[in-house]
Amino acid sequence: MTEDIKSLNLKELETRLLAMGEKPFRAKQIYPWLHIKHVETFEEMTDISSKLKEKLKASSVLTVLKQVQVQCSKVDGTRKYLFALADGNMVESVLMRYKHGNSVCISSQAGCRMGCRFCASALGGLVRNLTPGEMLEQIYRIQKDIGERVSHVVVMGTGEPLDNYDNFLKFIELLSDEYGLHISQRNITVSTCGIVPNILKLAQEKLQITLALSLHASTQEKRMALMPVAKKYEIHQVIEACEYYFRQTGRRITFEYSLVGGVNDSKEDAQLLAGLIKGQNCHVNLIPVNPVRERGYVQPNPQAVVNFKNELEKYGINVTIRREMGRDIDGACGQLRKRFMDL
Ligand code: SAH
Repeated sequence: MTEDIKSLNLKELETRLLAMGEKPFRAKQIYPWLHIKHVETFEEMTDISSKLKEKLKASSVLTVLKQVQVQCSKVDGTRKYLFALADGNMVESVLMRYKHGNSVCISSQAGCRMGCRFCASALGGLVRNLTPGEMLEQIYRIQKDIGERVSHVVVMGTGEPLDNYDNFLKFIELLSDEYGLHISQRNITVSTCGIVPNILKLAQEKLQITLALSLHASTQEKRMALMPVAKKYEIHQVIEACEYYFRQTGRRITFEYSLVGGVNDSKEDAQLLAGLIKGQNCHVNLIPVNPVRERGYVQPNPQAVVNFKNELEKYGINVTIRREMGRDIDGACGQLRKRFMDL
């Protein structure tokens, strides 16, 4: 079994090199080739002897994603990438350009087993977890492609990051590591469908990343109808876990709420939502549902979205309506990957 060298932190790399009879300082030479210069082969590591390169090749794999397709939005510069993993599986990632910097949305799994009713990524089920190296690579390839620094990362693509907990955590460590891309944890957001025990565990890691919770409904009954995971973790338990995350980390929670026409977009839904999260240090992000062909859900009309926002604001809740990026290029998560797999 060869090891994914890109999934090792500097300390682990040092240990591997020591075991090979190499000086540990070599790790400090190799690590930036992987995590700052983003080389695609060991050959490119010009200050490493050929003997050591051979040893590295024999004991490890260098994970590099292959860009299969990229769709560019003419409206706002959003770029949606389809990458092939070494085993032929596909993942998608999105670059969004904001005034505050370049933000990349990455996938954490190939497929997903959470089964949310409105989501395209759930359609084919889970194929496998991504390694930390494969998560990092999505950012590295995009940074190389555009020749600009990526400053923000959101884990909101295909997959449930907290269903791939250990790899996800390692990814955060490597991404924010001072010897790597060194992205501030405050510029990293992870979105979860609400796996309560892992939210509690994450809170104890005392990271500075933002937790976004996919709520999408204000009652247990409605949430269960949209998100099967809600059957396992009751809505109030999820809210309590978020409160705990805030208490442990001091990071304000983002509640994501995809508005589905005629399903969860009424005035009463807004009032119940306000009651549910009242008193929490949080922020609500409203997302008009992105219609997925296979799902049959529709967006509310734009006025209903504004009304929903206004209703929440009456209760003093911070609300934003997610600006839709890349409308002209297969908006919803998992759609590009799905379309490719259907071919
Ligand atoms: N598994 C994680 C992250 C992936 S999805 C999670 O559930 O949070 C990122 C966000 O997009 C989630 O809030 C998810 O519910 C939402 N989403 C998925 N499909 C969508 C669609 N068709 N329209 C609007 N939001 C969608």
